[in-house]
Amino acid sequence: MRNSRSEEAIPNFPHQQTLDVTWIAFLAATTMTGGYTCGRCLQVLRRRVATNGFTIRLQTTYNSRRIYGPSVSLVRSFGSRSNNCCTPKSLQGHTKRTSTPSVCTSQDAPHTVQQSMQRATSATSTYSPESRALLKPNNLFHPFSQSPSPSIRQRAAFIKQNAFCPHPSHQQTRAPVSPHDPESRKSLESASPPAHSHFECPDCGVPIYCSEGHWMDDFEAHLEICETIRQINEDDHDLHSGRFFPEFSYPGLQDDNFVINMTNWDTFLYTREFDAINHDRSMRQVTRMLTYPLTIGSVLHELSPYGVRKGGRLTVEGLKSVSALRYSLHPPKTGEGVDIQGLRLKAPPVRIFILGARAESSLPREVWLQLSYIFPRSLIHLIFIGPESMANRDAEFPLPERTPENPFGGIVEDRLGGQLKITTYVDYFHTMYKAQYFQPFDPYLDCIMLFHPGLGHPASSHEWEETLPQLLETKVPIISTGYTQWDMERDINWVHEKCAGEFDMLLEPGENIFRSLRWDLNDLDPHDISCGNWGLWAFRGKRYEATFRG
Ligand SMILES: [Zn+2]
Ligand SMILES: [Zn+2]
Repeated sequence: MRNSRSEEAIPNFPHQQTLDVTWIAFLAATTMTGGYTCGRCLQVLRRRVATNGFTIRLQTTYNSRRIYGPSVSLVRSFGSRSNNCCTPKSLQGHTKRTSTPSVCTSQDAPHTVQQSMQRATSATSTYSPESRALLKPNNLFHPFSQSPSPSIRQRAAFIKQNAFCPHPSHQQTRAPVSPHDPESRKSLESASPPAHSHFECPDCGVPIYCSEGHWMDDFEAHLEICETIRQINEDDHDLHSGRFFPEFSYPGLQDDNFVINMTNWDTFLYTREFDAINHDRSMRQVTRMLTYPLTIGSVLHELSPYGVRKGGRLTVEGLKSVSALRYSLHPPKTGEGVDIQGLRLKAPPVRIFILGARAESSLPREVWLQLSYIFPRSLIHLIFIGPESMANRDAEFPLPERTPENPFGGIVEDRLGGQLKITTYVDYFHTMYKAQYFQPFDPYLDCIMLFHPGLGHPASSHEWEETLPQLLETKVPIISTGYTQWDMERDINWVHEKCAGEFDMLLEPGENIFRSLRWDLNDLDPHDISCGNWGLWAFRGKRYEATFRG
């Protein structure tokens, strides 16, 4: 698996300050059109928007790049490809791109908090005086089209060009995907043709209806989500406010003697010694990212909040599976030391396959390291697989060549503190499975994670059809999440439909204790709001126990 890329120097983590910038950029990029719209559709749409004219003019400026070719350079500037051994390169990148007065051209210059705040400000909004208007926490609500942030104004334009008015008098624009989908209220025979969303609701500030008349007429339906959309509006503006984000400084490795408590977000953050987070808004921003490592960690950890007790959701089969993995993830202390006598054999890494990876593969590595920190005595190998697994990671292109040693062109990041390694493959899992690339699978060492896979979604289920029987064949646990209850149930029904009787439920479906507390807007359909990793369930291919006669 090692390839030439893995030999390249991978930088250490940059100073804490620069993380602010990359994380905000990550959030802004992923909330833009969400990780939950088909990547290909988005590309087409963005291209269409670009040719329609309004981005082209802006393409030379930094902000347009953040939106339409998204942010990438910021998000992953300390990723696997920079050759310098530490931060300065990425820092220079920021300074250059954001055209701040060059505060740190010298590679050795110490970076003060103030400088980094300036950088954060300039990277997330522009340096124009109007962005000052955002700075106050009580002044975060702005209608999208009049936002002080140029990138949010562009989002408003994007929504107006692409989203359709949900009023039931319009003709249907597509097949409804759920009973809650406003499209299901429309009929094909309606007299009035579909119309784009041009009217901004004054209460939530997002263009949703085609006209004031339709907004008023459908107000009751809109009221159900208006409040939440307003919160999204404020959270988005918060990211562009240029404030200092103390919630993005994460703790490192913790002393063995401290036991973490995974009952909920609050107890976890407290016992993991995170800086106190006193505002709901900060909590929403921080859980939006931590939900990825913590969703995996909360199922596999020996102190997991899911158990076989009544209401604990873990099934007996589930206990068998997670116990096997916990055996590897929590090895006994071996008296390991730094000298010759202290040498011990290391167990092989636990492989976590993240299939159909999208936004999560571009998460700042500090976020993924949090997973490694809650299993301090084991090695973890995260493997991102999927055609969209390089989304938001443009700075790392071109991909490594496919060579006999690295037949699938994996991008290896193996200097993430010695306990964690990340490999990314831009390919389908079923292709690699057929080539026997990852075999053998071991229930003590392997686990599969599907973040909002859309197994049963009409647009993506065909892509999973070939993969599902293979996943079951591995007999390793498959953990899966959904954006909403409906989204998760549709996935479960699809698995039942395709492979009834071939799998065991490991974790009963329900709300994820470590879901993102932040809601997100789908810019292609602003009525469709969702929440990262809202639901959680797990399953596994059925194991047939051998029985002996007599
Ligand atoms: Zn309308
Ligand atoms: Zn509203």
